[in-house]
Amino acid sequence: MNAETTKLFPIQSPQESQVKGINNRLLLALPRTILDRILRISEPVSLARGQRLYHTDQPLNHLYFINRGLACIFKTMEDGRTVEIEAIGIDDIVDALFLIGSDRAILDTVVQIPGTALRVRREDLMNEIEKDKALRQFMQRYARHVCNRVTRTVACHRLHHLEQRCCHWLLMAHDSALSDEFPLTHEFLAMMLGYQRAGVSIIMRSLVDAGVIAHKRGKVSILDRTRLEAMACECYRTTKSDADELYAAAPKFAQVFEFKQTDKSRAR
Ligand SMILES: [Zn+2]
Repeated sequence: MNAETTKLFPIQSPQESQVKGINNRLLLALPRTILDRILRISEPVSLARGQRLYHTDQPLNHLYFINRGLACIFKTMEDGRTVEIEAIGIDDIVDALFLIGSDRAILDTVVQIPGTALRVRREDLMNEIEKDKALRQFMQRYARHVCNRVTRTVACHRLHHLEQRCCHWLLMAHDSALSDEFPLTHEFLAMMLGYQRAGVSIIMRSLVDAGVIAHKRGKVSILDRTRLEAMACECYRTTKSDADELYAAAPKFAQVFEFKQTDKSRAR
């Protein structure tokens, strides 16, 4: 990892990360040999708030392993209204459509919480996936996980109460911001939840009054995560559990990684 990478990916404590500077859970699930190959073909980049990673119908030249921060994929309707399709954080690579052979984005993707990512050329990553059966199978399972998550988001929009969805969204943001405080406006949250700003403001105000969050000058602070989890819809818990299962369900990957780590520590 070069100096630029270290600058963009501050070193985390051992509890926070198995590989210094890498927080992306998809990358951390890979055997060290594969991870090293991917790191060699990728470059660290900063993600600025409002940065558009993809425009609808534009080529997917690069893919991003989000290392800190949150990007949102959203659909814009003919009347200009938008709604979130998916939030992409440290569990993910964006745009996962490349895994089904797509070379173009079908939706817009914009960074909403600034951070960092490892950027890789789509063709380079495809080559790595093509030549490694275990990686290919793992990425296929990841693609299935993403499909499940998108279908759950559709159901969530339709069936769950705004307050529950708002809490769900704040928890996702908290996980990927890697900080108790992150930028978030009512306008943005309303856009993501597909709801009027006034309604979202009422919910946010009630969360502030209950001491669950603080919200000042466009920044949210998570004060009581346990209560936030209790108030969120089932979708947060289920999606997180699915992701945990996906990353834990790669026993060979984990064994290889642990073996390499043990070898390294013995060699010191
Ligand atoms: Zn839900």
